[in-house]
Amino acid sequence: MPQQQSSVSRVFARGVRGRCPACGKGALLQGWIRPADVCDACGEDFTAVRAEDGPAWLTILVTGPLVVPLALAAEALLSPPLWISLAVWPALALGLAASVLPRAKGAFIALLWNVRRRGD
Ligand SMILES: [Zn+2]
Repeated sequence: MPQQQSSVSRVFARGVRGRCPACGKGALLQGWIRPADVCDACGEDFTAVRAEDGPAWLTILVTGPLVVPLALAAEALLSPPLWISLAVWPALALGLAASVLPRAKGAFIALLWNVRRRGD
């Protein structure tokens, strides 16, 4: 069981880094978030693994609880001018989402690949 958990956490970590879940060397994504069809290092086929809406859901789940409380606290404590709020919070939310989305996509693809491999 510990080895199985280690394997899942290793696959997850490789996915978050955008690396092939099988070998950890090849790229899992082409560009920003387009999944690779095959690993360029070991040839593992990812064409049957589709993350669908999962990465977007996880990105919202991570970004929203970070940005919304910050914005509400800043509004309550600092009462910044509206133009500052309109400039800062959307930019922070978009920047954070742009950073989280490829990691979430890599993690979803890697974990789905692991489930398909194990036949669970
Ligand atoms: Zn590989």
